[in-house]
Amino acid sequence: MTESKKTPGPGGDGARMDVEHVFQFNCGTYVPCFTECCQDITIVLSPYDVLRLKNALNLHSEEFIDRHTVVLRREKLLIPMVVLKMNEDDKQCPFVTEQGCTVYPDRPWPCRMYPLNMNDDGTFSLITDSSRCKGLEQDEKNRISNWLIEQGVPMYDEMNHLFAQVTTPLKAQDLDIDNPKIYQMTFMALYNIDKFRDFVFKSTFLDRFELDDLTIEKLKRNDVDLLKFAFDWIKFGIFGQKTLRVKESAMPKGDQVP
Ligand code: SF4
Ligand code: SF4
Repeated sequence: MTESKKTPGPGGDGARMDVEHVFQFNCGTYVPCFTECCQDITIVLSPYDVLRLKNALNLHSEEFIDRHTVVLRREKLLIPMVVLKMNEDDKQCPFVTEQGCTVYPDRPWPCRMYPLNMNDDGTFSLITDSSRCKGLEQDEKNRISNWLIEQGVPMYDEMNHLFAQVTTPLKAQDLDIDNPKIYQMTFMALYNIDKFRDFVFKSTFLDRFELDDLTIEKLKRNDVDLLKFAFDWIKFGIFGQKTLRVKESAMPKGDQVP
């Protein structure tokens, strides 16, 4: 949430606003509550949040997960909730300083959205009010559509939309998957992207799946492409969608095309 420049608007009365709504908000070292919203909060991280943060901190994804998150398994749900770990003593976010957020360009989606919340119907509402967020009393007007772009939200929305294509069917089908191996592989693909890269390039994976040279190069070089591929791999493995092609040589004998 906090940096020396930040933005959102009005009252905190739960009113729904569309993207053309103009609201009042600004945030920076000049607000009396500066950094107060960066403590004692629950920030759920998406796979893309983890990817951005681990790269910003120059950490291996496994180290980031171990050091900075709490992974909450949910009964009968294949995908756990991954939460940013606050400091044990002062409950502050580990990335906040008096000057603001030290990972600001790569801050998670909820921090970009604050103090707005996106409703299921695509409208927005304030999740706090001016008694707590003094930025809502600042004299800066923001059209929500422009503000979302300024906050870098569209890229996160695109990746979260792809993530939802994995999570939504899982919820809808209420799949009762308790095989620990499937849980581990799914978790790796979503949240431990550096390990997933090793899995793709250092196992027999490429002997089993058809991938052209361009795709292979992209997956080697670009974490975002690799994460999109991880979503496809889960869709293939869990839902049987035709997102990947198995090499003929890797098919069981009876399935091979003569
Ligand atoms: S990541 Fe940055 S903006 Fe988000 S809570 Fe931590 S310090 Fe605040
Ligand atoms: S509570 Fe609002 S104004 Fe205060 S630091 Fe957080 S976002 Fe900025």
